[in-house]
Amino acid sequence: MPPPVFRFAPSPNGYLHLGHAFSALLNFDLARASGGQFLLRIEDIDATRCRPEFEAAIYEDLEWLGISWETPVRRQSEHFSLYREAVEKLSGRGLIYPAFESRAEIARLVAERETTSPWPRDPDGAPLYPGAAKSFSVAARRQLIDQGLSYALRLDMAAAAAEASGLNWVEHGEGPGGETGLVAARPEAWGDVILARKETPTSYHLSVVIDDALQGVTDVVRGQDLFWSTSVHRLLQSLLGIPQPIYRHHRLVLDDAGQKLSKSTRATALRELRGQGATPTDIRRLAGVP
Ligand code: GLU
Repeated sequence: MPPPVFRFAPSPNGYLHLGHAFSALLNFDLARASGGQFLLRIEDIDATRCRPEFEAAIYEDLEWLGISWETPVRRQSEHFSLYREAVEKLSGRGLIYPAFESRAEIARLVAERETTSPWPRDPDGAPLYPGAAKSFSVAARRQLIDQGLSYALRLDMAAAAAEASGLNWVEHGEGPGGETGLVAARPEAWGDVILARKETPTSYHLSVVIDDALQGVTDVVRGQDLFWSTSVHRLLQSLLGIPQPIYRHHRLVLDDAGQKLSKSTRATALRELRGQGATPTDIRRLAGVP
């Protein structure tokens, strides 16, 4: 069997904290213990939030932790044309449609629906897409696009799930409800997810599955907060005809109040801890790396 391939895939939209250290070290240790490869991938598709100084800090913090990775590092912002091709492929099969509502309009539509009964939420707690854009004619879509309106390209979940039903994945870690082993994917729980936007030809879901496949990643080891996103990833892998890795979702490092760590909190940022004299060994202990 070829050696396994692991990856750590941070977004350079803030400084790494103890939670990132846990994930990076776990991936690195697993790769070393199995004679596998460890890749670092920079997930920088969001030009409004990603900054070069955060990317430079990622390299610096990981090196300081004693982590080394294969080069060259893949930066998603350099591969937009590849993601665009995948969107076009799905669009050509009638699985994608443009939706023109702003965030405020979506919130208003949801509030309107909720005057009668609760509107369904996705596994992250966000309301499912409530609009009617799916039923617009091709001519109406064209007209709105030609007017210069902003839009999101959404996956027609009902059509997509009909093409790829009964999906599951092998989970070596654990979901938030203790799910492990063979887990049934439930992509419908996410509704018509956004796969791209007018200004950004991709999304987290789309680029992560394309890159994991392209880089030959065999083992996706990441935080439990992304557990149910795997349902969407399995659906996209099936629609695009790309292989599925094994998944291992790990527990999250929480703060003293039991909350998920945030990139904007200085207290647990690796560079802050380093500045206070912490060593890489201290970081392993503080993050609880096994
Ligand atoms: N880029 C994602 C993040 O920083 C992680 C993606 C993944 O591991 O699948 O949260």
